[in-house]
Amino acid sequence: MVRAWFRIPLWQRVIGALILGVITGLLWGEGAEQIKWIGDFFIRAIRMLVVPLILFSLVAGVAAIGDLRKLGTVGGRALLLFVITGFASVTLGLTLGTLVTPGAGRTFELPEGATIPEPAETSVTEMILAMIPSNPVQTMAQGDVLPLIVFALLFGIGILMAGKDAAPVARGVDAAALVMQKMTMLVMELTPFGVFALMAWVAGTFGYEGLIPLASLVALNYLGCLIIIAVIYGGLVRLVARLPLIDFFRGMADAMAVAYSTASSSATLPVTLRCVQRNLGVSKSVSSFVVSLGATINMNGTAMYLGLATLFGAQIFGVTLTFGDYVMIAITATLGAIGAAGIPGAGLIMMGLVFTSVGVPLETIAFVAGVDRIMDMMRTATNITGDGAVSVAVARMTGDIDVEEFESADDV
Ligand code: ASP
Repeated sequence: MVRAWFRIPLWQRVIGALILGVITGLLWGEGAEQIKWIGDFFIRAIRMLVVPLILFSLVAGVAAIGDLRKLGTVGGRALLLFVITGFASVTLGLTLGTLVTPGAGRTFELPEGATIPEPAETSVTEMILAMIPSNPVQTMAQGDVLPLIVFALLFGIGILMAGKDAAPVARGVDAAALVMQKMTMLVMELTPFGVFALMAWVAGTFGYEGLIPLASLVALNYLGCLIIIAVIYGGLVRLVARLPLIDFFRGMADAMAVAYSTASSSATLPVTLRCVQRNLGVSKSVSSFVVSLGATINMNGTAMYLGLATLFGAQIFGVTLTFGDYVMIAITATLGAIGAAGIPGAGLIMMGLVFTSVGVPLETIAFVAGVDRIMDMMRTATNITGDGAVSVAVARMTGDIDVEEFESADDV
């Protein structure tokens, strides 16, 4: 019995759980609320991974570049491309959400005890100051990801500056990052149960009418991701790196498939690395740095989705957004995507940050959580393809790519 369960690929178990959850919810009605705790259990387990995973994988990523000078030339370019493509992706999500309005048509009542956050009045200087962790331990305890990222990057730079003396620390952090990847895989096994419970709750509480807007959200999420892959990554590879697109996608295919089925950039990391090094011919130091960092920081599928989901939440619960709110969403969604860990459902957790900034009910998170997994699979495939595209673009600029290897298809 147990063996047979594990023999079914995880993604198939998840899709099965999703369908069963919907049926159960529709039959059970509001009583399905009683099993919502199983979904919350799953979301808590994901949250548990966020801080250590971000800390260890970022430090290991910076340390992987090997020397400080290289960090300057490669790191600056990579970070710039991460931010530009992230911002473009959020803009795409906002455009799709405004044009198609997936949540419009019927306004839902907020369930009892739901929370509408007060839009946070934060100035730009406050936001900048909040990125500096005045106490790193407290930052970690509170799970504030952006200052944690700053701390982790600086810690990695410290390791590079200390050189040989810090080699044991670098090795330890590398091992810890690997351990976190394994823990991620363990937690992922909870997904079918969490998805079942959440879907039953959504279908039971909101009925058929709740499922229709969800279906259009899912469709838009896929469309948005495909546009990012074709236009933004296509542009990076064709126009910035001036290399043939077909070889790029052929080289990344393995990693895209693994990302799609695991919904975790971190769990896919070893495969992404192999594809970028072996199939795309990017040097080891550049690929280790860009891909490890990218697995946490560069999440364009997630950025697009955060923009889209915020509009969706506003539409289903009837919240009116101003132009200023759109700007706020663009900024917080870009930061949210940077802060999201490379694990299933991380985008879901970061929604709170974006929703709070413009007063969209936090209940939207539970509303979309059941279908998050199917969207997450596509977001993750998009995210890691972005790591490949940025690696290729940066490596082309710094001369760290073997073009012959890139173009030869036989090693795929
Ligand atoms: N699961 C995604 C990733 O690992 C993050 C997200 O939830 O959007 O890349």
